[in-house]
Amino acid sequence: MHIFHIVTEFSPLIKVGGLGDVVQGLSSSLQKKGIKVSIFLPFYTHFLSAIKRELSLVTTSLKVMENGTTYTNRVWSTKLANLELLFLDPNHPKHYFKRRQIYGETDDLSRFLYFSRAALDYLVHAKHHPDILHLHDWLTGICAPLYFEVHRFLGLEVNGIITTLHNLLYQGVCHPKYLAHIGLRREDLLSQSKLGDNKKTHRVNILKGAIVYSDKISTVSPSYCQEIQENKGFGLESLLRTHRKKLFGILNGIDTDYWNPAIDPYLPYPYPKKWDSLHQIYQAKQKNRQVLAKQVGLSSSSRPLLCSITRIAKQKGPKLILAGLEKALQSGWQVALLGSIVEKNLQAPFKKFRDKYKNHPHAFFFFGFNEKLSHLLFAASDCILIPSCFEPCGLTQMIAFRYGTIPIAHRVGGLKDTIVDPDCSTSSPCTPKKEKNGYLFSTFSPSGVQEAIERVEKTFHEDRKQWDSMIQLSLRTDWSWNKAANQYLELYHSAQLSISHLRKD
Ligand code: ADP
Repeated sequence: MHIFHIVTEFSPLIKVGGLGDVVQGLSSSLQKKGIKVSIFLPFYTHFLSAIKRELSLVTTSLKVMENGTTYTNRVWSTKLANLELLFLDPNHPKHYFKRRQIYGETDDLSRFLYFSRAALDYLVHAKHHPDILHLHDWLTGICAPLYFEVHRFLGLEVNGIITTLHNLLYQGVCHPKYLAHIGLRREDLLSQSKLGDNKKTHRVNILKGAIVYSDKISTVSPSYCQEIQENKGFGLESLLRTHRKKLFGILNGIDTDYWNPAIDPYLPYPYPKKWDSLHQIYQAKQKNRQVLAKQVGLSSSSRPLLCSITRIAKQKGPKLILAGLEKALQSGWQVALLGSIVEKNLQAPFKKFRDKYKNHPHAFFFFGFNEKLSHLLFAASDCILIPSCFEPCGLTQMIAFRYGTIPIAHRVGGLKDTIVDPDCSTSSPCTPKKEKNGYLFSTFSPSGVQEAIERVEKTFHEDRKQWDSMIQLSLRTDWSWNKAANQYLELYHSAQLSISHLRKD
């Protein structure tokens, strides 16, 4: 079977958040099971300098039409851990991928529609017919309608199309002219049964098109799969209910080779490969903590350390992040925030908070994306704060577990699928305490997060047995992609079987 991902991120080369981790982790796991996987990406000049010398040219003559003008594109390839990566490098006057950021440009719609069109044009050009097209979010979801409306008539044959919904917040709602620019007939697609947006009737919704046209849809956790059909689908709830037979929730894994504290090259003190006492783990954590403290100017201390490693966006609960960090500081903890501010309106409150505490000996702030620092923080911290208002899956809690760091999170989406915090007042029978691996709060408010921090404190200081049990469990649990990769394989197989009825016009 040949799986062809069309996607906009791939870790660690091109990463904004979890999307890049998911494609890399899933692909590596499938490749180890003998599946051929190719990944088609934009050639982001700014982010690819590290591998530039390892690239070889696949073609210099890929023609792609946009709004009546034909542009020539190069496609580069390289192998990374046996995965075939292909990069689209357009010779286009707007320099779509020669930007300093991956998203957030005013012409993102044009950039990623062009990229999607080019991906399918490439398959036609190269006469490749992968078994499965695997698309991700609105960013490449337009390939599903494109395939059925355009590229199958150009000779492209695939056996199934899957779109993974990583985040329903972003849907690519736009003027239909954008579709016309890449060769789709806008009159046809504006209808409600196709891409017509449910609320803005003169607009098309690209994610809706992906849902309607794909053979199978996956979401990144079972709980999110339910939630988006109930009230967290940002207007697509009823569409998703209509298509529920092709909708599956598959919990993400993490790449446990990459996120492995025993061989992590970013850690000054890797954890022991084999250990029989938690004391050895605590020692390694402590040593990394000392290096971190020195590096970032935190006072050396045995206080608990709470970190937050996140995109700073409304989804991530910015008010609760600040309330949680403040509460922890007031309770005598250390805190460290590594946050990339992706929504400009959040810059002011976060910088204000930083300024308030910038001379505090137990607080550290870094605004921006920093892969290396994130690894050190995962290892050096005792807890990580994840108060997202919704969370399709969330990877930071799983990475944290791998490094023996306990999550404090909102009881939602993938967070509640991975974090066990028995609440005996609501669930019966109550999950045994020995299965507890973290802290969840149900009330999405500063008081919710503050109450959870009080519970953490009590356990940390007064019930070391329970704390050790959580760490032990988090380190012993299998967070790898293995199970999810098998589920995706099943989904690919079932997509191939279901294609015939969708093919009919
Ligand atoms: P999302 O995809 O919504 O941003 P996830 O929890 O699914 O959230 O994935 C986040 C990924 O991005 C994790 O690998 C996390 O370590 C990483 N990450 C988030 N913010 C930063 C940052 N500022 N610096 C480094 N890594 C970050």
